[in-house]
Formats: sequence, C-alpha cells, structure tokens
Amino acid sequence: MDTNKIIETKGIVLRSTRYKESSRIIDLFTNSRGRVNIFVSGALRPNNSLMLVTEKYVESDFQLELNKNNYYIKSGQIRNSNLDLGKNPENFLVGEIISEVILLTMPENLVDETIYDLTIKTFEILRSNTVTPSLVRIGFLIKYISLLGFKPNLSSCTHCGTKKFRGLYFSNEIGGILCEKCLESIQDYGKLNKSDLEFMLFLLYKKYEDYKGLDINKDQMIRIENIIYNYFLYNTELIELESRKKYFKLFGI
Ligand SMILES: [Zn+2]
Repeated sequence: MDTNKIIETKGIVLRSTRYKESSRIIDLFTNSRGRVNIFVSGALRPNNSLMLVTEKYVESDFQLELNKNNYYIKSGQIRNSNLDLGKNPENFLVGEIISEVILLTMPENLVDETIYDLTIKTFEILRSNTVTPSLVRIGFLIKYISLLGFKPNLSSCTHCGTKKFRGLYFSNEIGGILCEKCLESIQDYGKLNKSDLEFMLFLLYKKYEDYKGLDINKDQMIRIENIIYNYFLYNTELIELESRKKYFKLFGI
C-alpha cells in the first residue's frame, strides 16, 4: 500500500496561493513526481519553517509525504530562492511566462526530468541577469516545445526533403521549414530569410550561456518571436498567454 510514503524530490514553486488566514496552496513542479498540488496548512504563521519554501519561484529539496493521493510537505531545504529575479522586473515577468507555460501544458503528475532541468536552467540564467530577458523568453519557448515532442524541422524542407532553397518558409501545420516548390500543398506558412533560420537554430540548439552578448536586430527579434510563439500556440492548442500580454504591455519586445 502507498500510504504514508515518503518521497525525496527537488521542486520549484510555480504558483503560491494564500488560503484563508495562514495557509497556502502551492503548485510545485518536481523532478521525480512532475507537477503536484500541495495544501500547506499554517504556511504563513510566524516562524513556520515552510513559509519560505512555499514562496513563488523558490526551488528546494523536499521530503514529501504521500497519503491517499495527497501530498504533504514534511520538510524543505532551499536550493535557490530565486530572489534575485525581483531585481529586474523584466526577468521576473519572464519567470511568470515560464510558470504559466508549465502550469497550462504539463499534465499533473507527468514526470519529465529534462523539462525540469530546462526550467531550472532558465531560472538560473534569468537570475544571473547576463542575457537579454527577451532572448531567454524566446529561447525557452522553442526549447520547451521541442522537449514536449514538437521539435520543428529546421534542417531540410519538411515536405519534400530538399536542402536547396530559393525561397524559405515556415509552416506550423507541417512543423518546420518549406521550400518554394512545396507551398501549393500547404495552407498556412510565413516567409523566412536565411538569417531568421540561423537565429532559430541558434536559439534551439545553443545553451543559454551562448546567448550572452548576442546582438539581434529588433525587427528580426519580433519576427522570430511571433513565429515561435504561434508555433507554440498551434501545438499546445492554447489561445494566448496572459503573462506574455502583461510582458508586452510593460516592455514591448
Ligand atoms: Zn519542398
């Protein structure tokens, strides 16, 4: 029987909601149990040892107790408070986008350590404040959607396989790039140029550390962000991300 089972796991708080006077309900993304909801009674009472580990964006080593399908926190040791994110509001909002994306697209209890690691790495680079936040935002989306199983084909025409392009296009419907000859059979596509494609490849395959010092033209950034964001929406069947709307209102691209 699975009663009173103790689980050791890393986890990051994606959402923390106050419940009544002093309790909290948290959405915790863990590396060994996926996304779980936890009710933390008395989390906000003074001197409660679980107050800090139930704050938004805090990553900790947890001891969870599983009792009749409900998780409880036995103890938590902070790995990273991610407090530094608050120093730059733009980084903080990118954090919100990441949280919203995972909350809306990762099913509860689905374990995916690669996605967990990507999430932690993304927070790490945001915290370091060494890469333009909008680059991290776009890079995260293309890396994340690829790990979810929708990696776009960027190496040859997705329809006919040619690597020789006179015109270059991207289509959500077929999940990758297209040559000029294959447009007829596809309904939805947008035009790309060679440097757009290079930029997308760069965002997808390079580490965040390699994004440092990258100087990108604003128009190209907007164009690529749109392509990646629409590709993300198409595959996740979402309509919009509220946090992204907020981000644009405050910072533009
Ligand atoms: Zn083709």
